[in-house]
Amino acid sequence: MGDTVKVTNFTPGPTPVPDLVLQTMAEPILSHRSSDFSQLMTRIVKGLKYVFQTKQTVLPLTASGSGAMEAAVVNLFSAGDRVLAIRSGKFGNRWVELCQTFGLNTEVFDVEWGQSVDPQEVRTFIDKHGPFKGMFATHSETSTGALHDVKSLGEIARESECYFIVDAVSGLCANKFQTDDWFVDLALTGSQKGLMVPPGLSFIAVSEAAWQAIEKNNHPSYYFNLLKARKALEKGLTPYTPAVSLLMGLSGALQIIEEMGLSKIRTIHEINAQTTRAGVSALGLKLFAHTPSNVLTAVIMPDAIDGTAVLKTIKNDCGVMIANGMDHYKGKVIRISHLGYDIVPSDMLFALSALEYGLAQHGHKFSTGTGVSAAQKLILENAKRRI
Ligand SMILES: *Cc1c(COP(=O)(O)O)cnc(C)c1O
Repeated sequence: MGDTVKVTNFTPGPTPVPDLVLQTMAEPILSHRSSDFSQLMTRIVKGLKYVFQTKQTVLPLTASGSGAMEAAVVNLFSAGDRVLAIRSGKFGNRWVELCQTFGLNTEVFDVEWGQSVDPQEVRTFIDKHGPFKGMFATHSETSTGALHDVKSLGEIARESECYFIVDAVSGLCANKFQTDDWFVDLALTGSQKGLMVPPGLSFIAVSEAAWQAIEKNNHPSYYFNLLKARKALEKGLTPYTPAVSLLMGLSGALQIIEEMGLSKIRTIHEINAQTTRAGVSALGLKLFAHTPSNVLTAVIMPDAIDGTAVLKTIKNDCGVMIANGMDHYKGKVIRISHLGYDIVPSDMLFALSALEYGLAQHGHKFSTGTGVSAAQKLILENAKRRI
C-alpha cells in the first residue's frame, strides 16, 4: 500500500513546495553566464537580505545546509583556533564534528537534549575558559524542537570579542531572527526548510567584521571559498555552475515571502505550532522541548509505544510523513513539522488525525478525536489573529 498512497510531508525539511515555486522551476533553464541569470541573482540576493534581516550580501551556495556550515568553519578559522561549540542536539553536534574535522581547538558546551541553552551559563563558561575566537550555536535545534536565545548569545559573543556563527537552517522564517541586530557574524540556512524550496541550496550571510577576518585567514578552501563567491556575486554570478532551477524556484519563494512579510509568516508558524501542541497535549502526550520552536513539535512517546512503528502505520495508512526522533531518541520521540509559510492550521488537523490513528493502532489509550478537537478549539480562538 505504502508506495501508492499520496504522501504529505510533515517533516522539518524537506517541506512541501508551493505551486508557484514548482512552476518557476519548470521554466526553461537560464545559462548561468547570461544577463538574465545576473538579474535573477540580484533579485534573489535582495530577497535573502530581507529574510536574514541584514544589510550585508547573502551568498547562495549549491550545497545543502551542511555545506554552508562547512563553508563557515573553513573560511573563518584555521587549525588550532580555539572555538566554543554549543551542543544541544544532533545539529549542534554537527558544529563539533566540523570544527574537529578541520583541526580547530574545540571546547564543547553541552546542553541536555530538549533543553535550551542558558546564555548566562555560557557567559560564565567563557569568563572561566575563554578567550575563544568563535562561538557556534543553533537557532532552532531540529533534532529536539528547542528554540535557543540567539539574541542574548549574540550580546555575549560581542562582549567576549568572538565571532558568532549561527545555524539558522530550520529556524529562519519560522522564528524571529535578526542577523545584524543580534550581532551574528555568520548566519546560514538551507533551501528545503523555511524557504520551502526543494533541497540543494544553502545561503550564508557574513558580517563586515567576519569578512575582514576571512580575508586574513589562510585556511585552504576551494569549492566553498566565500571570497570567490563574493567576487562573482558582485557581477551577479557564481564561481561554478549553480543549481539554476533551484535558484529559479527560490526567486518564486522569495516573491511569496516578500509579499506576505516576515511578521505575518511568523504568526502563521506560531498559530500552527500552538495548534499542534494543543492537539498532542490533549492526547496525554508530553512535549520534548522545554522552549519549543515554531518549526516543529517534538513529542515524547509513552514508554510502552514504539514511535517508529507508529510512524510507519501513519505513513502507510494515512499518507502522512512525520519525522522520527534522531540518534538515541529514535522511536522514543516523534517530530511533527509545521514549517512553511503556506501550511494552514487545517493541515495540522490532518497530521493530528493521522497521529491519533497511529497511536490508536498501537495501543495508546485516549478517546478518539480528543487531539483534533483541542486543536480545532485553538484554531477558532486564533481565528481573529489570522491576518
Ligand atoms: C536541516 C538542518 C541542517 C542541515 O542539514 P542538510 O541536510 O545539510 O540540509 C542543519 N542544521 C539544522 C538545524 C537543520 O535543521
